[in-house]
Amino acid sequence: MNVLRYEDAPDPKLGPKDVLVRVRASGTNYNDVWARRGLAGVKFDLPHISGSDVSGQVVEVGSAVTMANVGDAVVSHPSLSCRVCEACTSGREYFCRQFKIWGFQTGPYDGGYAELARLPEANVLPKPANLSWEEAASMPLVLLTAWHMLDTRAQLKPGEDVLLWGASSGIGVIGIQVAKLFGARVLAVAGTDEKLRRAKALGADETINYNTQDVVQEVRRLTNKKGVEVVFEHTGAGTWERSLASMAWGGRLVICGNTTGYEAKTDLRFLFNKQLSLLGSHQGSKAELVRGMREVAAGRIKPVVDSVLPLRDAKKAQEKIEAGDHFGKIVLVP
Ligand SMILES: [Zn+2]
Repeated sequence: MNVLRYEDAPDPKLGPKDVLVRVRASGTNYNDVWARRGLAGVKFDLPHISGSDVSGQVVEVGSAVTMANVGDAVVSHPSLSCRVCEACTSGREYFCRQFKIWGFQTGPYDGGYAELARLPEANVLPKPANLSWEEAASMPLVLLTAWHMLDTRAQLKPGEDVLLWGASSGIGVIGIQVAKLFGARVLAVAGTDEKLRRAKALGADETINYNTQDVVQEVRRLTNKKGVEVVFEHTGAGTWERSLASMAWGGRLVICGNTTGYEAKTDLRFLFNKQLSLLGSHQGSKAELVRGMREVAAGRIKPVVDSVLPLRDAKKAQEKIEAGDHFGKIVLVP
């Protein structure tokens, strides 16, 4: 934690296709914690400015910028890529050889824990007018991730059952709402009854307290022994075996992270016999974020801001994330 410093940095210099955003609010993510701790196999340029989500106003545009204008209210799209290769032009920018998550594997583009942020023009989109700056900054990364997981990867259908771990986390609170939007039935899992009460208020149909209930037994009971068609995973080793045991025959598990560890046991007999699909998911495309934001603008997906802290308290925000002592997103204001 002591590697985090709050200090003055030079103003970013704009390239021809860049925009400069006066940051009004900056969302925090578990990724910020990973970048601080370091992650095997991921290269980080250090020192850097963390933060993958901002809302703010465009205050300057580069000479080759064509769409963004000074004064625009925008949010960030956190996937940096070349925008010209085969992957990028087929709408799969997450497979670009130059792909980076802005504010995570950041550099040369520093992230959003700042007063000013430089982004390629392609990495901003309009801020929904019905959201405050703080609410808007809480959305992009988790919305993009949840949308890609449930729509593009799991291809969630109306009427399907979804087991959703970490219902109180930043991604959980959006995952519940995206799953409901697609017409699924959500079985939300969290560690306290208070968190589960709030998950229900967001639309979860059923709730399971992993501290007081047997998750697999509850899934069997709630689905009349069928199991769930889709598991929404982002915790990893600590929940993996229970996730697999909760799946219906032919079910899909989609995973975007592993906050409890990355080495997990898979009983291959269940994998082939029940014809399960295990799906990895990582970020998403700008088009997916635009579609998700349309639902936010229409009020069908709502931001969930746990707390707003001054930027200088970024350490406190990361402590809260690590402790799991929050419901929804923690937002910083410079
Ligand atoms: Zn590319």
